[in-house]
Amino acid sequence: MEIVKEMIRFNQPFITGKEIEYIQDCIEQGRLSGNGKYTKLCHTIFQKMLGSKKVLLTTSCTDALEMTSLLADIKFGDEVIIPSYTFVSSANAYVLRDATIRFADSEEDFPNIDADKIEELITPKTKAIVVVHYAGAACDMDKIMSIAKKHNLVVIEDAAQCIDSYYKGKPLGSIGDMSAFSFHETKNIISGEGGLLAVNNPDFVSHAEIIWEKGTNRAAFYRGETDKYTWVDRGSSFLPSDITAAFLYAQLLQLEEIQKKRVSIWDFYYENLKELESKGKVKLPKLKEYQSNNGHVFFLQTDSIDQRDDLIQHLKKNEIMAVFHYLTLHDSPFYAKKHDGRSLPNARKFGDTLLRLPLHANLSEQDLNHIATAINSFYE
Ligand SMILES: *Cc1c(COP(=O)(O)O)cnc(C)c1O
Repeated sequence: MEIVKEMIRFNQPFITGKEIEYIQDCIEQGRLSGNGKYTKLCHTIFQKMLGSKKVLLTTSCTDALEMTSLLADIKFGDEVIIPSYTFVSSANAYVLRDATIRFADSEEDFPNIDADKIEELITPKTKAIVVVHYAGAACDMDKIMSIAKKHNLVVIEDAAQCIDSYYKGKPLGSIGDMSAFSFHETKNIISGEGGLLAVNNPDFVSHAEIIWEKGTNRAAFYRGETDKYTWVDRGSSFLPSDITAAFLYAQLLQLEEIQKKRVSIWDFYYENLKELESKGKVKLPKLKEYQSNNGHVFFLQTDSIDQRDDLIQHLKKNEIMAVFHYLTLHDSPFYAKKHDGRSLPNARKFGDTLLRLPLHANLSEQDLNHIATAINSFYE
């Protein structure tokens, strides 16, 4: 028999084994639509984890971001400040409500939004700042929250990558007015597709529930707070089926084990590549004192886009999938003509040189040694 060497995948969904049990139970209960038993179990866990005023499971992080756009009442003429180095959904949610996006540059040494460059983008039309904690590592939140307070702006955290990560001890997603998490299969804990809206500012709580349930007061009705279940505002179907919640519940119960494994892989890469860094061959992520590491992404930076392409090819020849990340949104085909023309050199640099290494809970020690050896041999 021919032995075919398998590619080391960049990502592979980690399954705890309990998912099917909870889904089975969900089926036996005969209650499959949204806001059922497992949705409530997940809500209780997230509520405790984040201490938010309200948490609501959503069908995706993209949908949770769209909810924040409705909640902040974003409309034509409003401006929203968003980092250019991020996933399309961070901006698309506000573009759907006809906002103008003012793209901000990244920090020099990390992909996160540069808090020192936010204030110069604020105009009388600015309504919100969207921050993205790249790789689950916090933005400079004290600075950002104080700018927002001074100018009366809403702060939305795109916390898609932020499960179990902290800023000065506070969970990411619990700091801004509201935040959005993702449980897409590429994230640390997953439900296939899935997300969470966390509302921290009490002013948005009752509205969030209404938007979540198709613009109706159904949630209040079920709590017995109103005697009519009716259409009260704009909304959509943002809640996932309880089958999705049952899957997520299994993952949440194993969060600690999953995180331990992911962080240990991250640490392995750091330990085994730091010599390359000290020789000036690559740059490794430098976490600031206020950032925690949740093992979501391990990235390095090459010297140039060409060197990155060569390294990707070299790794592919060694059966390793490594991938770059975002193409900057300000010069994307969709937004380039609408962008105000400012160049965003740091965001561009991360677009050109950042490379992510395989990181998932199924990687073996042998896989990791093989990856580290292949990267080191490329630079020899
Ligand atoms: C994954 C991700 C999203 C989108 O999440 P979905 O759940 O797939 O909608 C949005 N923003 C960032 C920063 C992400 O990493």
